[in-house]
Amino acid sequence: MRTQTQAAVFDKEEFKKSVLAHLTDTYAQLPETATTRGWYLAMAKALSDMNIGNLAETEAALIKTNAKKVNYLSMEFLIGRMTGNNLIALDIYSEVSEVIAEFGLNLTDLLEEERDPALGNGGLGRLAACFMDSLVAQELPAVGYGLHYEYGLFRQSFENGEQKEAPDAWKGMEGYPCEVVRPDLTQHVGFWGSVESYQDGQGNILRRWTPSMYVEGRAWDIPVVGYKNNSTYPLRLWECHAPAPFDLARFNEGDYVNAQFSELEAANLTKVLYPNDNHEQGKVLRLMQQYFHCACSVADILRRHLSLGRSLESLSEFETIQLNDTHPTIAIPELMRVLIDDHGFDWDKAWHISRHTFAYTNHTLLPEALETWSAELIGRLLPRHMEIIFEINAQMLEEVKTKWPGDVEKLRKLSLIQEGAPQMVRMANLCVVSSFAVNGVAALHSELVKRDLFPEFNELYPNRLLNVTNGITPRRWLKFCNPALSSLISQHVDGDWAKDLDLLSSMNKLAGNKKFQKQFMAVKKQNKQRLADWVSTNMGITLNTDAIFDVQIKRLHEYKRQHLNLLHILSLYQQLLNDPGFEMHPRVFIFAAKAAPGYALAKDIIFAINRAAETINNDPRIADKLKVVFIPDYRVSLAEIIIPAADVSEQISTAGKEASGTGNMKMALNGALTIGTMDGANVEIREEVGDDNIFIFGMEVEQVMETLANGYHPAEIYHRNPVIKNAIDMLYGETLTPGAPDRLASIADNLVHSDPYLVLADFADYARAHADIDRAYRDQSQWAKMAIINAASVGKFSSDRSMRDYVDTIWHLEAINL
Ligand SMILES: *Cc1c(COP(=O)(O)O)cnc(C)c1O
Repeated sequence: MRTQTQAAVFDKEEFKKSVLAHLTDTYAQLPETATTRGWYLAMAKALSDMNIGNLAETEAALIKTNAKKVNYLSMEFLIGRMTGNNLIALDIYSEVSEVIAEFGLNLTDLLEEERDPALGNGGLGRLAACFMDSLVAQELPAVGYGLHYEYGLFRQSFENGEQKEAPDAWKGMEGYPCEVVRPDLTQHVGFWGSVESYQDGQGNILRRWTPSMYVEGRAWDIPVVGYKNNSTYPLRLWECHAPAPFDLARFNEGDYVNAQFSELEAANLTKVLYPNDNHEQGKVLRLMQQYFHCACSVADILRRHLSLGRSLESLSEFETIQLNDTHPTIAIPELMRVLIDDHGFDWDKAWHISRHTFAYTNHTLLPEALETWSAELIGRLLPRHMEIIFEINAQMLEEVKTKWPGDVEKLRKLSLIQEGAPQMVRMANLCVVSSFAVNGVAALHSELVKRDLFPEFNELYPNRLLNVTNGITPRRWLKFCNPALSSLISQHVDGDWAKDLDLLSSMNKLAGNKKFQKQFMAVKKQNKQRLADWVSTNMGITLNTDAIFDVQIKRLHEYKRQHLNLLHILSLYQQLLNDPGFEMHPRVFIFAAKAAPGYALAKDIIFAINRAAETINNDPRIADKLKVVFIPDYRVSLAEIIIPAADVSEQISTAGKEASGTGNMKMALNGALTIGTMDGANVEIREEVGDDNIFIFGMEVEQVMETLANGYHPAEIYHRNPVIKNAIDMLYGETLTPGAPDRLASIADNLVHSDPYLVLADFADYARAHADIDRAYRDQSQWAKMAIINAASVGKFSSDRSMRDYVDTIWHLEAINL
């Protein structure tokens, strides 16, 4: 076993040679004429060589320890750029920076050449990436299992203010340098076909599935590098291929071109990530992706387990499978099928093993996001799996009948099958019934899961429903993205806070220190300047860094209420124009968000904000008081520039709708003050930072439910409140869209006549909270104090803590220090 850290064995001269060798031998460029991209690729590849070696060594070392592992199954891993982060994890950032400088280049310029692998939509995928980082940082044995999409989340641009989507070819023509293909791990996956009964030698009646189509699953490993330790864990992403290079029979008949058709079709399976966030579409190809992901991953887990000579009876002692939302639910009947049909287990034994292996994380209560699949479709695509689901259902319903005799309503509600035409399989119910633990992602959310989503299951299976509050990795979301604040913190906080984020609490005693306040605000200003430079270069808009930078960055969704923010901006605009006595500190409102391509209202809201930006930014009467910037193509690398520059963090979802949020945590950690509702993890952020250091507004969950239950009439608010009326009337008129007065009526009509997310009901209190912010910012010392307290008090939201909570309450793993 190795005892020295990577930094200790790092040899600068060797690394330099490796970069040069890759530059010429891998990428065919010469030092004299190489492009920045060529240098980046050569450097990333030299680094990747080290990581891939460490991956193999960690795997071999872990085998000897007999350690239990968690397998994190997620359809999305929004990892962002890897190279800079890996340099920090290996603690060789400054050494490599020197090497690059010796070539006459700048490391940060090289790092800018890496395209984000955007293999996720938003929070759920980013969470999976933070969890992998925190698992390996604490040497908790883990494998991440996902899909190797050819195209990640679409690239967004604006044409006359409207969102346009383009494919995201994240690997580039040269291939992605931070990954390695693993032909040794190839799997085969069947689809369609039929199931038949047969008798084995002992006269047992068994079932056999004969698929009518097979594809090949090829594994790519992305090494996840442990922070200042010797461990490197795999993020294993499956890519779909036809089983053979082409159809040999056809090839021999001379039909060379058509012989390759199957390759084209099979490759489509992992071609593209579905761009929906918190919304299910029910497409066959999506279900095929899900099964492909699960079949490859389950087979790989069993391969590892069996290759060590372990019995399948002991599976749950060595492997836990954590399902990130219901997207990998089909792994449950897949494991049952393999145990029963391939390994000859009887139902009860297979069920026992399976039930102790799976755990499930719920991410949403939104009805449109709760997955259901038609039983007819599953029955055709995966006929054996549908039989198994029906059997799991039958046994569960027996339990329900025993517990609540004669209660037909309970049977109807808990059934895995939603009756009707067509019959639909409720994937969340299947997960709850088949898992040993089910968790929500923030305290409030987990309470609502128990109380509103699964109250009967909570009675039927006491202690199964748990909470684990989400977190973010402090390595990427402070140390790497905010070097200025990191170095200030390191001057004042003892110990490696990037390893133990609770250490930041010692900064609380400096919150009232005038000198420290000045330093803290100078860092904030520097980060605002960095963002302003980016905006100036890329968008041609000049920002005043004395203004309050007010940031809302997240997927575009009605429940996240970017339109509440917009209405407030419009009301400020009108006040500045019409009320000579109105005073406000200059404010820059910054947005970034992608809308799902099929979500018309979300796209209209993007257009409306872009039109408002154009109108306000070009109105000479407004001068520098108010600016609106919508930064295109929101992604991890953009978040890394915006978050350190935020003064105000907008977390304004309708109470009860945002399960946790993690953008809220990132910004608080970087010294932004939150304006937010009592929703998701905002509730716990408030607990940590104190009520005086956060701007809470709006209805709480109970009021939201009551308001909606009692018949909500937004039109009354519209007619009663002239500020709201004037702002909405701007959407009806043509101030924002000259020549097209109806272009934004969809948003206005939705708010006046329906407003399902209570934008109008919360508007007045939201505006009040913003006025509080304006007042608070004028006292710079007081503001600095509040910002410092925020950064110092959110250690709880490190994903290291999330991982320890999962370990203590669900996974029961041991850290293995290599
Ligand atoms: C953190 C993050 C999210 C999640 O943001 P929320 O505000 O919690 O919705 C989405 N996308 C990216 C790129 C992120 O970094």
